Amino acid sequence: MPGLKVDHEHCTECRMCYIVCREIDINAVYVALEPLHRIEIDPQKCTYPACTACLMYCPAEGSIIELGSGRSMVPPPAEAWQEA
Ligand code: SF4
Ligand code: SF4
Repeated sequence: MPGLKVDHEHCTECRMCYIVCREIDINAVYVALEPLHRIEIDPQKCTYPACTACLMYCPAEGSIIELGSGRSMVPPPAEAWQEA
């Protein structure tokens, strides 16, 4: 099952993904205390590709990538807008 992770080369730490994931009550996005209080996505909780909500709100191109393929999911590709 593919998952998502944050690319800290591009992420601005705006926390929008955290808010969105919290709003839909999945809570897969968290702030890792080490090393720099940065946003991370918990692969055990994230339901991608069934959920793609954070991809629609993330403003920083290239900041969320698909595990395995390594491709950028921001801006979201066409298939991310389709219902799972
Ligand atoms: S894809 Fe959905 S479940 Fe996964 S981190 Fe984004 S909002 Fe949360
Ligand atoms: S929404 Fe995008 S830029 Fe903002 S914290 Fe999440 S991954 Fe980083």
